[in-house]
Amino acid sequence: MVIDELVKFSNFYGSNEELVLAGGGNTSAKENGVMYIKGSGTSLSTITKDGFVKMNRAKLKEIFSKEYPDNDKEREALFLEDLSDAKEPGEESKRPSVETTLHSLFEYTFVLHLHPALVNGLTCSENGKEKAKELFGDSVIWVDVCKPGYILSKICFDLMEKYKKCFNKSADMILLENHGVFVAGNTVEELDEKLSLITSKIRNEISREPDFSSGEFDGEKSMRTFNKISETFGELFNDDAVISYEPSEESLKIAQSEETVKKIYNPFNPDQIVYCKPYPIYIENEEDIPSKTTEYKNKNGFLPKIILVKDCGAYAVDVTEKGSTNASMLFNDALKIACYAESFGGGKPMTAELTDFIVNWEAEAYRSKQAK
Ligand SMILES: [Zn+2]
Repeated sequence: MVIDELVKFSNFYGSNEELVLAGGGNTSAKENGVMYIKGSGTSLSTITKDGFVKMNRAKLKEIFSKEYPDNDKEREALFLEDLSDAKEPGEESKRPSVETTLHSLFEYTFVLHLHPALVNGLTCSENGKEKAKELFGDSVIWVDVCKPGYILSKICFDLMEKYKKCFNKSADMILLENHGVFVAGNTVEELDEKLSLITSKIRNEISREPDFSSGEFDGEKSMRTFNKISETFGELFNDDAVISYEPSEESLKIAQSEETVKKIYNPFNPDQIVYCKPYPIYIENEEDIPSKTTEYKNKNGFLPKIILVKDCGAYAVDVTEKGSTNASMLFNDALKIACYAESFGGGKPMTAELTDFIVNWEAEAYRSKQAK
């Protein structure tokens, strides 16, 4: 049964922190007329058969012959509706990953989609596209950064059709700018070979590894900062603040000045927006935490999750322990991406326009999850 193999390799890749963080990544398997896809809100490391949603492949295919409106909200709402309608009977209460349609495009049994920092060092870099061509030639399709949801799957659909005509072969490896990687194969071994090929070629190009050992930080200032954050979130916003603090070499180096913070200020990928909020706050003096946090909240409508403090490093704040740990993990992921991207001409974050789209899109997707 392909579902058993699917669960097994999902748990295997999901347990590797270099490849999967929090709820990131997704997997699928096709059998006859159906496709099993990871459900939204599940984690690859612990997913079981029940975590997968059984989809009707013919209905998924129909999505690509439909016309959708240009208006973002209308289009994405209709797209989510069609995605929901493509569920097999009995699956009504489940919510398939928003990347389901991308999986359906591959003409292979198994598909693995991940957002590894190493790969994103390339996909979130200035010279990424050029370098990918140099490293992989025509074996990999590069997809320029675009809006997620329907737009991304339609662009992939067109590129994969073109690829098939051109090379007389169905595409099996895709790099998505500012996002991650897709590999597809008819056996799990093939997935492994293709992913290893991509990661090993990228790794060979890396000139510096990120350093997460504890750096030299200002102990007293870091304590005052910790208390100030707690006080600010509690008193000003009546919010519980669970703080994860890691004074790593890498975070201390970024939290040196407004100039160094620029390297990671704008988000590299959607995960970072989901788990860390789009932008961090940088503060030289902990006394400025209340005013800077208020300013951020007034401007964005939500509180920051990452606070960078000179000589102290990074603080990840959230109302829950899990949220705080995830924010910290994904911020470290951004630091890794920035570091790896140095080998490819430096980091290239998403534009403010796309960032805003994703902030709103995530909120919409979340609301639809609550409603269904
Ligand atoms: Zn993804």
